[in-house]
Amino acid sequence: MATIEFQQIFKVYSNGYTALKNLSLDIKDGEFLVFVGPSGCGKSTALRMLAGLEEISGGKLLIGGEIVNDKTPQERNIAMVFQNYALYPHMTVRENMEFPLKMLKMPKAERQKRVIAAAEKLGLTNLLDNKPKQMSGGQRQRVAMGRAIVRNPSVFLMDEPLSNLDAKMRVQIRTEISQLQRNMGITMVYVTHDQVEAMTMGDRVAVMKGGELQQIAPPQELYDSP
Ligand code: ADP
Ligand code: ADP
Repeated sequence: MATIEFQQIFKVYSNGYTALKNLSLDIKDGEFLVFVGPSGCGKSTALRMLAGLEEISGGKLLIGGEIVNDKTPQERNIAMVFQNYALYPHMTVRENMEFPLKMLKMPKAERQKRVIAAAEKLGLTNLLDNKPKQMSGGQRQRVAMGRAIVRNPSVFLMDEPLSNLDAKMRVQIRTEISQLQRNMGITMVYVTHDQVEAMTMGDRVAVMKGGELQQIAPPQELYDSP
């Protein structure tokens, strides 16, 4: 079952620049799909569009069989983790993770249950009372993911989540993200310019170039393009 469908999607920015040209692809339920390509190829635009942060200039975007072109980010059951973590520095890990649930006016008991469950999945149980500045880059990344998963989204979006980490941490978090995605059975759409990351993490890889989809295939079936 396809949970996400890009149907002939175009993005033309207000300055006239066409960032996505006729993008069509399906993402299956529970799949780990990686958009890869050089800077400027349109991969973040595609992801922001999914999140509802970017107007669609042409084509149709479907989530769970429903056209979402005009739906707000809040109306889509999607969580996005940003590159720069965007944690609140004055809040503890617990408060950071609880915050989006407060915004939803969820009762306190349910909020606490969700935070504890997410912290267990992410190995953050012993760090719940820490502030972000007391933590490593990798730990902060996990908190950012925790804050996203407490809402039990059906789709998870990540844009270059490892780019602020050193090489060793990148490999470690890469593995953690893959495991977390498999444990939760959640659909993941992941953006990176790093081909190794794409090949090791993705069930399928969508290779973008100049706003166009070059190929989409499982890593072992990708062919080299000049
Ligand atoms: P609007 O507020 O009309 O939707 P946009 O969000 O499309 O405007 O961006 C406003 C302007 O900022 C654009 O016309 C563009 O020139 C510039 N801009 C913003 N981000 C970028 C970017 N990543 N690359 C190039 N230009 C950009
Ligand atoms: P990537 O994530 O692959 O680096 P993006 O999706 O961020 O690429 O951007 C694709 C292209 O669209 C780039 O050439 C970028 O400069 C341009 N762009 C992005 N945002 C805007 C904007 N708001 N206005 C104009 N051009 C933009």
